[in-house]
Amino acid sequence: MIKKIPSFTEIYRSLIQIPTISSDNKHIDQSNKGFIDLLSNYFSDLKFSIQINQVPCTNNKFNMLASIGSGHGGLLLSGHSDTVNFDEKTWTKDPFMLTEVDNRFYGLGTVDMKGFFAFVLEVISSINIKKINKPIYVLATANEETDMSGAKYFIKSAIIKPDCIIVGEPTSLQLISSHKGHISYLIQVTGKTGHSSNPDSGINSIEIMNNIIKHLIFLKNDLKKYNHKNFSIPYSTMNLSSIHGGDTINRICSLCTLKFEIRPIPGLTLTQIEILIQEKLKSIIKKWSNRIIIKKLFSSVPPYQCSHKKNNIKIIEELCNLNSKTVNYCTEAPFLEKIAPTLILGPGSIKQAHQPDEYLDLSFIKPTKKIINKLIYKFCY
Ligand SMILES: [Zn+2]
Repeated sequence: MIKKIPSFTEIYRSLIQIPTISSDNKHIDQSNKGFIDLLSNYFSDLKFSIQINQVPCTNNKFNMLASIGSGHGGLLLSGHSDTVNFDEKTWTKDPFMLTEVDNRFYGLGTVDMKGFFAFVLEVISSINIKKINKPIYVLATANEETDMSGAKYFIKSAIIKPDCIIVGEPTSLQLISSHKGHISYLIQVTGKTGHSSNPDSGINSIEIMNNIIKHLIFLKNDLKKYNHKNFSIPYSTMNLSSIHGGDTINRICSLCTLKFEIRPIPGLTLTQIEILIQEKLKSIIKKWSNRIIIKKLFSSVPPYQCSHKKNNIKIIEELCNLNSKTVNYCTEAPFLEKIAPTLILGPGSIKQAHQPDEYLDLSFIKPTKKIINKLIYKFCY
């Protein structure tokens, strides 16, 4: 017997109620265990088989794969179980209480993206699940907001081969087939301090950093040569994000640090970016080999372009009457793609993600259910 699950709004509320904040700060970072348990209970009430796996080297975080139906192919609907942190001072509503007002659902994760699972549950509970002839999979990953370790771990051991993966990030129900990547660095220059009255008595780290920055800006301009016309900013971008160095006016600066990021377009790999940086800075690194440290900040995400091999872009464009687009933010798609062609399509706007008083506009409810329904009928019946 398939159990009756709670209403759409009740499920939505219960998903928002359980905090699942991911953060690089271990005092803020939370386990997603309670959320995964709740979600898996809902899916097992709908007769799905549940697989829960702990993601290694995390703060008690888990991935959940729920599946129903047998055979090859089918559809995987994927979302992340975690949210970013919130700033108490800027939220006017309780982030963990679903507040319905002004035709909106307010709460942390309403669009990015715990709410997506409420849509999936609602649609699945309304269809005749016994009639599917290809499997439906639902994946909830951990740590998307920090290092994407959940998605990375999942693809290592996954043996399923769906025909299509949909990541339900908030795209305002636009079909996203490619996005830029993200890679960030810290450069630290250690010079030698001394009295400013004799500049030659030390090694000024700001001067070395100045030379590094000059070469990075050459690279920034070189990156414009690689073009991808589908993006509104059609080339890989570089941003020098922060710089710190020195303290006292009459002291030679011994330590200077720079942080910068690059957002590569599809077609450029993260390795190619690293080689380009090394090449540009080669002469400076050679001269000051023991004084320059370059290290990656955060976990990098490769640029993504959905493969045309299985024609999924065209199939879903026609099915949902959409034209595929590109975006400048990153998702788990480049990792999940190892299993099947992946597209990004979900309710709510990215403009509300990571913002105080995050909300889902309720006008998305009807069309989202319709789209998920169509996708299941297309890939699983
Ligand atoms: Zn997200």
